[in-house]
Amino acid sequence: MANYYVFLGPPGAGKGTQAKVIAEKLHLAHISSGDIFRENLSKKTELGKQAQEYMNRGELVPDGLTIDMIKERLQRPDCADGAILDGFPRTPAQADALAVMLKELHGEVMAVPLITVPDGLILERMSGRVSCRASGHVYHTKYNPPAVAGICDVDGSELYQREDDKAETVQKRIDVYHAQTAPLIEYYSKADLVKEVDGTLEIDQVTGQILSAMKSK
Ligand code: ADP
Ligand code: AMP
Repeated sequence: MANYYVFLGPPGAGKGTQAKVIAEKLHLAHISSGDIFRENLSKKTELGKQAQEYMNRGELVPDGLTIDMIKERLQRPDCADGAILDGFPRTPAQADALAVMLKELHGEVMAVPLITVPDGLILERMSGRVSCRASGHVYHTKYNPPAVAGICDVDGSELYQREDDKAETVQKRIDVYHAQTAPLIEYYSKADLVKEVDGTLEIDQVTGQILSAMKSK
């Protein structure tokens, strides 16, 4: 039986930061739907072209496109023992599709850490976020700065501000989270999988809380 973990929380909560550290620690695959879309955007694939406008507007990419993409990704061998899902599912329809996929893969959602941060903190998190072009490493200019400004500590690549982290798009993304993604809290609560974690703590402390939440089933 393969173990899957769904990291839930608003944009800027720290899902990607935590998923990267914890996936490495637990030797699990880290599947970030946003990273996969951004990779497709930069490679100008058909999927990237279809996703671009939605992403730049701060809207969700349609469920059909997103589900097909994740289905393909979860079938790869590195997910055979399980994975951390970061940014997927984001709608109840995606969660239903995930349940079907995991049945086929003999897998199970073991826990859903919900990283909470108040809306008021999100803009500050996003405005300081810089991301690496090569492999999606994430920093914050104030809270988690790279050793050399503008350069990724891990692979030396250039850091950039995401198009959708500009202030005008961030509010839209927060609204979309509350309207379309927050219903997943109830969805997964029915199976008693949701474990709330305080995302305002220091990065290491949040990691500790999530690791305990992942063990608690
Ligand atoms: P998400 O994947 O949920 O959108 P990220 O992991 O990209 O969020 O984090 C958003 C921003 O906040 C990044 O700049 C990251 O460095 C920073 N960040 C993440 N966790 C914390 C934390 N616990 N305290 C302060 N800043 C954080
Ligand atoms: P993220 O990197 O998780 O912040 O996602 C960035 C953007 O990619 C989102 O604002 C959406 O436009 C798109 N996206 C990522 N994951 C999904 C998903 N599961 N469903 C729909 N759109 C998504």
